Amino acid sequence: MNNLVRLTKYMGKEKKLYFIVFILAAISASINAGLPFIFSNIINKLASIKPGSSFVPIGENLILLTILLASNQLILFFNQKYSALSRIKMITGLRVKIFQHLLDLSVDYTERHRSGTVLQIVERGINDFFSWLMELSSWSADLIFETVLVLIILLIKLPAAGVLFLIIIPIMIKASLVKVQVTKKYRKRANKTWEHQSGYLAESIANLSTLKGMSSEKESIKQYYNFQQKIFRNRVIQFKYERRYDFARDSLGALSILLVVAYVAYMSYKGRLTPGDLFLITIYARNLIGSVGPISRFINATADYDITAGRLADLLETKPLIKDLRDSVELQYIETIEFKNVSFEYPDSKKGAIFNISFNIDAGKSVALVGPSGTGKSTITKLILRFYEPTSGSILINGKDISHYTQDSIRKNMAIVMQDVALFNTTVKENLQVANSKATAQEIHKSAEMANADEFIRTLTKGYNTLVGERGIKLSGGQKQRIAIARAILKNPNMIILDEATSALDSESEVKVQDALKKLLHHKMSLIIAHRLSTVRHVDEIIVLKNGRVYERGTHTNLLRKNGLYAKLFNIQSKTGKVDL
Ligand code: ADP
Repeated sequence: MNNLVRLTKYMGKEKKLYFIVFILAAISASINAGLPFIFSNIINKLASIKPGSSFVPIGENLILLTILLASNQLILFFNQKYSALSRIKMITGLRVKIFQHLLDLSVDYTERHRSGTVLQIVERGINDFFSWLMELSSWSADLIFETVLVLIILLIKLPAAGVLFLIIIPIMIKASLVKVQVTKKYRKRANKTWEHQSGYLAESIANLSTLKGMSSEKESIKQYYNFQQKIFRNRVIQFKYERRYDFARDSLGALSILLVVAYVAYMSYKGRLTPGDLFLITIYARNLIGSVGPISRFINATADYDITAGRLADLLETKPLIKDLRDSVELQYIETIEFKNVSFEYPDSKKGAIFNISFNIDAGKSVALVGPSGTGKSTITKLILRFYEPTSGSILINGKDISHYTQDSIRKNMAIVMQDVALFNTTVKENLQVANSKATAQEIHKSAEMANADEFIRTLTKGYNTLVGERGIKLSGGQKQRIAIARAILKNPNMIILDEATSALDSESEVKVQDALKKLLHHKMSLIIAHRLSTVRHVDEIIVLKNGRVYERGTHTNLLRKNGLYAKLFNIQSKTGKVDL
C-alpha cells in the first residue's frame, strides 16, 4: 500500500473532502452494526407474546429502525456524492500535474522511455489510484469499521464467540496478506510486460507504413503474441496461488461458523440465550465471515493498484536532469556562443559521444557541423539547447556559463529547424502558432509567405484551417520543411539551429526550401548540421567531425585546399550529385 499512500500527497485540497467521506462511512458502519440489535429486540418481544394477548409493544423499535434506515440512506447519499466529487476534482488536478511534470522533465526522460509505456504508466496509475480510493471510500471503509464494531459487540455479548472470531478473522486476513506477498513478483512481472507491450503497440501503430513496407507484420504479431503469453503465464501462476490461499481461508471461515452455531445451539439448549440473542449472534457471525471475502478482495486489488501506483509515483518523483540554478537569469539576446573543450557522455551510455570540442559562433556568423552519422552533431545541438550538460568543459553564452541562464530563456532565443519536423494533428495555423501562440493572423501569413509556404497552404482544402494529419502525414517532406521554417521565422530569434533535410526533395521543393532557408538565416547566427556540402560553402567555419572529435576545420576553400576528409567527401558528392552524409 506504500505506493498508493505516496500518491495521496498529490490529492491536493480534496484530501479534506475525502476525510468527510470516511467519517460518513464510519457512521454508516455503526448504524449497520447496530441494526441487528433492534431486530433482536423485536424478536425477543414477539417471542414473549402470550397466547390471547392483543398488544405487541414493538412500536418504538420500528420508529428507531425507520430513523436509522433513513439516516443511513442520507449518509450513503452524501458519502457517494462527496466521494464522486472529490474523485472527479482530484483526477482533473492530477492529470494536469502529471502533464506539467512531464513537460518539466528534461529531454533525456523521453529519449529513454517509449511514449506508449509512459502513456500506460500515467493512465493505469491514475485509473488504479482512483479505483482504489473509490473502493476504499464506497464500501471497504464501511466494511472494515463494521467488522471491528461487530467484533467488539460480540466480545461483550458472547465472549466465547467473540474470542473465536478475534482469532479466526485476523488469520483469514493474514492469509490474504500472505497471498498478496507471495504473488507480488508475478503481478510485478505481468505489469512490466504490460507496459512493454503498450510501448510496442504505440510504436507499431506510429510506424505502420514502415512495418507494412518491410512486410514484417508476421514478425510483429509474433512479438506482440509473446508479450501476451508472458502476461498470461504470470497471471496463471498468480491465480494458482490465489486459489490455494482463498480455499484455505474460506474453509477456515466455514469451520468457524459451524463452531459458533454449535456453541449457540448448546447455550440455547441450556436456556442461556433468548431467541433474539440467537438471531443476533447468527447474523453477526455470518456478517463477520461474509466481510472477510470483500476485505480480502480489496487487499488483493490494493496489491495490484499498488504496483501501478508505484510506477506513477516514480514518474512524478523523477527529477529533471537539468535544473535551473536558483540565481539563474533570463537571457535577453545571444551575441556569442563558445564551446570550450566540451566532452559529453549520455547518462545511460558508457562510451562518450563527443570529446574535447571547441568552437565559437559570433553574432551574425554561421558554423556548419559535418561528418558521418553518429559523430556527435545532434549531441552538440542538444548541449547548446541545454537539454544536457557537458560532462567536462564548458559552454559559454555571451561569455557566461550556459547554466547562468534559465533554460526557457535560452530556448526562446533560438529556433530549431530539424529534418524530422514535429507536427501536431491540428490545423496548419495552430501548427505555426506553436512557435508563437500570440501571433496575429497577419504575422502568421507573413511568416508563411517568407518561408514559401503560403502558396501551398492556400491550395489546401481549408487553407490555414486544414488539418495536417498525425505527424503531418498529409503534407509532403518539402511542405513540412517550409512549415518548420515559417515557425522559426515567426519565433524570430537571433540564433538558428538547422538540421538539413537528408531526404531527397523534388527539385522544385528543394529550390523553395533553400530559398526560404536563405531568408531565415539572413543576418542571423546559425549552427548548421550539413548533409549536403554544397549548401555550406559560404558558412564562416566548417567543423568536420569524426568519432566525436574535431577532425578538420576551416572555411570551404581552406578545407578543399587541405585535401583531407572534407575535400574527399565534397568530391564524392560533387560527382554523384545529391549524396547525403
Ligand atoms: P549525429 O548527429 O552525428 O548522427 P549523434 O550526436 O546523434 O550523432 O550521436 C553521437 C553518439 O551518441 C552516437 O554514438 C550515438 O549512438 C550516441 N547517442 C545519441 N543519442 C543518444 C542517447 N539519447 N543516449 C545514448 N547515446 C546516444
